[in-house]
Amino acid sequence: MALFEKLVIANRGEIALRILRACRQLGIQTVALHSSADRDAKYVRLADESVCIGPAAATSSYLNIASVIAAAEVTGANAIHPGYGFLSENADFAERVEQSGFVFVGPRADTIRTLGDKISAISAMKSAGVPCVPGSDGPAPEDEKSLIEMGRRIGFPLMIKASGGGGGKGMRVCRAEADLVEAVSLTRQEAGAAFNNDVVYMERFLEKPRHVEFQVLADGQGRAIHLGERDCSMQRRHQKVIEEAPAPGISEEKRQEIGGRCVEACLQLGYRGAGTFEFLYEDGDFFFIEVNTRIQVEHPVTEMITGVDLLQEQIRIAAGESLRLKQEEITITGHAVECRVNAEDPVTFAPSPGKITNYHMAGGPGVRVDSHVYSQYVVPPYYDSMIGKVITHGVDRSEALTRMYGALQEMVVDGIKTNLPLHRELISDPGFVAGGMDIHYLEKKLES
Ligand code: ADP
Repeated sequence: MALFEKLVIANRGEIALRILRACRQLGIQTVALHSSADRDAKYVRLADESVCIGPAAATSSYLNIASVIAAAEVTGANAIHPGYGFLSENADFAERVEQSGFVFVGPRADTIRTLGDKISAISAMKSAGVPCVPGSDGPAPEDEKSLIEMGRRIGFPLMIKASGGGGGKGMRVCRAEADLVEAVSLTRQEAGAAFNNDVVYMERFLEKPRHVEFQVLADGQGRAIHLGERDCSMQRRHQKVIEEAPAPGISEEKRQEIGGRCVEACLQLGYRGAGTFEFLYEDGDFFFIEVNTRIQVEHPVTEMITGVDLLQEQIRIAAGESLRLKQEEITITGHAVECRVNAEDPVTFAPSPGKITNYHMAGGPGVRVDSHVYSQYVVPPYYDSMIGKVITHGVDRSEALTRMYGALQEMVVDGIKTNLPLHRELISDPGFVAGGMDIHYLEKKLES
């Protein structure tokens, strides 16, 4: 008996194909939803059924809750997988999916809501013993005197953040006490306008952190595990460019300590599904920033070092199975790296949609390419520019990097510009090769 008879893939691109592959392994039929711009994509045809849910603009298609649910209804599907981005972390969507009688492949709506609000997420983390950035422990005070006292206690520079913020918006660094009152009031105004929620809080600003995140799986029935961490510090404009697992320089003891805290938080929250606990890591200490309540772009590096198919586990959990894996069964083997390949100019970063005239995919031992593109595929201009991911695995970091170097030399994507030349340069960059660079490293390198 299959876990589900039929599952709707409410996403596009490489993650739609990734979900499709997991469903095939599990014997689940798939319904690919697509906009009119993605009608001819090959992965859409690989699905058992497909439904056009609207025009190219994501707001009328991939973000259109009514269309997605209607497509599940007309196809008689049982479950909806939201992928990442689009509706994946929308609590109202998760709620409507379940109210309409379908299974949402993800956490319960109330969990998404709790973790989507930064102040409530931090307080949930504190009660599970997850280390957080020292800060206001709740909303910033309204009156100026208390605000300044609190600012002094936290210390400068500090960060003012909108509790309802996301996507890198609603944050402001304040470097001096004299600027605090105005900075808080500006952030409040922006937060009110952008998120319809003007609650802000404050925390210490970390100058040179790394981005290290923990992968978890939990069944919402009393079992949860972590699958170690990933380092995603190579970023440009808060967008991850290269990820790797495990994170360089993290001891097994620290991994189990922080991973164990994340597991405890999952148990306390009754968390269900796959999730990522994001931390800033500075001078040997972890500081929680947020939980992503979905599968992430960089999940393959964890799959490569643990041998666990995260998508399959995510779907099994959604179908009500209890978690099959035990913490002691999770072992880390070797090292994995992922390069995100984007259709963009490698120097200016301007998007470069259009027809791929020639495509050759890398291969060989320890090489995995997750991509939906092919020769003659037209990259539409309407969505995220990522066209795939090259992932390599080796017995250690050095072998993973060498394999990535080889894989990047092999990859051919003609007809459009891609960031492959940038990746080829980064993979042998001395700082990156040394490992453990902070989140500002890539931008500084690009400026110089
Ligand atoms: P969002 O939900 O908008 O993505 P996050 O809280 O995840 O916001 O923070 C986004 C990014 O902002 C982080 O990846 C990090 O680069 C930076 N950041 C957030 N909090 C801090 C902090 N306290 N100190 C330094 N940088 C921070």
